[in-house]
Amino acid sequence: MIYKTDYHIHSNYSDGKASPEEFVKAALQAGLNEIGFSEHLNLFYNDLSWCIDHSRVNEYIKHIDLLKNSTDEIIVRTGFEVDYFIGREIETYNYLSPLKLDYIIGSVHYMGDSTVDNGREFYNGKDIDRLYIDYFDIVCEAISSGLFDFIAHLDLIKIFGFKYSRDPEPLYRHLAEKMARHYVALEINTNGKNKPVGEYYPDIRFLHLFKEAGVPVCVNSDAHYPARVGENFDDVYKILKAVGYNEMCTFRNRERYIVPAEF
Ligand SMILES: [Zn+2]
Ligand SMILES: [Zn+2]
Repeated sequence: MIYKTDYHIHSNYSDGKASPEEFVKAALQAGLNEIGFSEHLNLFYNDLSWCIDHSRVNEYIKHIDLLKNSTDEIIVRTGFEVDYFIGREIETYNYLSPLKLDYIIGSVHYMGDSTVDNGREFYNGKDIDRLYIDYFDIVCEAISSGLFDFIAHLDLIKIFGFKYSRDPEPLYRHLAEKMARHYVALEINTNGKNKPVGEYYPDIRFLHLFKEAGVPVCVNSDAHYPARVGENFDDVYKILKAVGYNEMCTFRNRERYIVPAEF
């Protein structure tokens, strides 16, 4: 038995293409035990088309609360995917801490003022190895900030297929150690398969490092369409089994729980 959860879902409160109700229906069809919503939230850039409007944050939380209470067949959770910025931790903490959430996902979409995932132009003329090192450094800061329960798409910097020219293992090993130390879980994000790089986040060659460091795992789709809820999960479960994982983590009220998984 695998306790199936998908905690990384974008509804039309941010840039997803369907209502929360439609995603719940899709989660039931996919046989999930839990579905969690994680709208994009950016505290420092206004009017971003892919983020929830700040004026709708409370409405969103209430809406998902209603869904929790009206749905017996599946457990519904409330979260956010929050853009992380170095040096803005206190403001981020102050904004998020009063909210009634089950988990908070940290994301590094930005390096400086630019997003790394909105077009290949960002990479033009840049030293890719340097970018990888700098990107992983920001992710490490996000991990040690204490703000987040897990980090989205850990190695998003590979999205367009630009590769680190050396052996990237030390970069991943460092992340795994930081995550173990700061009580941050690992997300396997299946949406990378739909991107130019065509692979999961993070690079599955290094999953054993997270297992060895004692970092618990959850599998997420980052779905923006109902049809993608739970996408490729069975494939990832096989990979996790091969790596030696035998449990999954779940979230409720900002607490992490471990459930056994017989993959
Ligand atoms: Zn993201
Ligand atoms: Zn996302």
